[in-house]
Amino acid sequence: MKVIIFGGGVIGVISAYYLLKKGASVTLLESSSDVATKASGSNAAQLSYTYINPIGNPDIFRLIPKLILGKNENFKIKRFDPMFLAWASKLLMQSTKSQFERNRQTLLALSLRSQSLLVEMAKEMNLNFGYKKPGKLHIFEKRRSFHQLKDFSDQLKEYSIYQKIMNEKECRDFSPRFCKTIQSIAGGIFSDVDAIGECHQFTKQLLINLENNFSNFRIVFDAHVKKIVREKRVIEAVETTDGKTYQGDKFLITAGAYTNKILRPINLSLPIYPIKGYSVTVPAEKPNDYIPCSITDHSAKMVYVPLEKSIRISGLFRFNKFDEGLTIKTVEYIKKLARQRFPDLAFNKATVKTGLRPTTPSCVPYIQRMKYENLYINAGHGMLGWTLAHASGERIAETILHQP
Ligand SMILES: Cc1cc2nc3c(=O)[nH]c(=O)nc-3n(C[C@H](O)[C@H](O)[C@H](O)COP(=O)(O)OP(=O)(O)OC[C@H]3O[C@@H](n4cnc5c(N)ncnc54)[C@H](O)[C@@H]3O)c2cc1C
Repeated sequence: MKVIIFGGGVIGVISAYYLLKKGASVTLLESSSDVATKASGSNAAQLSYTYINPIGNPDIFRLIPKLILGKNENFKIKRFDPMFLAWASKLLMQSTKSQFERNRQTLLALSLRSQSLLVEMAKEMNLNFGYKKPGKLHIFEKRRSFHQLKDFSDQLKEYSIYQKIMNEKECRDFSPRFCKTIQSIAGGIFSDVDAIGECHQFTKQLLINLENNFSNFRIVFDAHVKKIVREKRVIEAVETTDGKTYQGDKFLITAGAYTNKILRPINLSLPIYPIKGYSVTVPAEKPNDYIPCSITDHSAKMVYVPLEKSIRISGLFRFNKFDEGLTIKTVEYIKKLARQRFPDLAFNKATVKTGLRPTTPSCVPYIQRMKYENLYINAGHGMLGWTLAHASGERIAETILHQP
């Protein structure tokens, strides 16, 4: 069976791996001249297996006035256009307590499966992408958010995941440099299951392995899919902007936040909103001198991750359609927050990136067949694409190969 995949982010390349392993031939078409240049190249590098909470949660209703008035620094809605309003109304439907719980369980199942698959794959292919498992600490200044996550931590025991609940002193002892400038800490939650690794590096290494080990694999760069050629309910081929045509038995869209641009010409659309986020990577000779593991600062909603020779600070949710632009004011805001924690880091040498998180209202990705007999999708992984990529890739490969 020949499968044509469009989109060479982490989701597309991992999907290719599982399809190849199960015997399919794969051609991967990627718009850019490299893999993982979009969201997969700008993410926070966290394999956040136990913190998988969807955006749509009962608390969101309380936050609506602040969000509408633009008073929340973390979430900024730049346009209240039809695309955003349609997505937001679906998000509210996913924000009831019962729906939130259901989405969280679905994400947890995917993340836990991904965890073991990543370790297996990294070992099998000898991938080197800075993988470490130092755990993850959530630090809370507000009691309310601390207790909400603590309740979830109790639920995780059902899955044999035991997180450590820390008091203020324990947080300060565990990460003294980070906590030094926090006046009062309501509590912390430490999970030893969570890991870190560079998603861009991983995707590139996996690609090299696929090229070396599978003769039935081909990647075509600078191949931007512009048209899907169909006959009734069957996809026959795709055309790229350079005038080439690619035929296959099955077609898989892994174009992340750009998925609807491909679907719209064939009268399909999915509620996947491109939520822009920022990541600022600052060089640091010994990152662990600053932080022992990845830390989420729940008050500022920023994530700090110690990579091999740098610290990555990521966060922010900007709703402005497909705008990927980098705003100096926003970068300065992130640096200001981070400088409060670590005044001596070389922020003038920082690398700044933005990326669009392909986010569904439930935060659960679409991993399924579309309304055409041979068209499939693996997209919409939102804030967790790197974390969920392996289980998603495995599942879509099974779906594609087992359906007639
Ligand atoms: C700031 C930030 C921090 C994040 N932190 C984390 C984190 O710590 N942990 C985590 O698990 N997740 C995180 N995420 C989310 C994660 O990065 C994404 O969910 C994931 O990268 C999505 O992968 P993807 O392959 O679907 O999309 P992308 O990486 O965006 O890839 C889509 C690909 O499709 C290609 N494409 C688009 N249109 C076409 C076309 N017409 N033809 C051919 N190719 C096309 C694009 O060029 C691109 O390469 C973060 C995201 C951001 C932005």
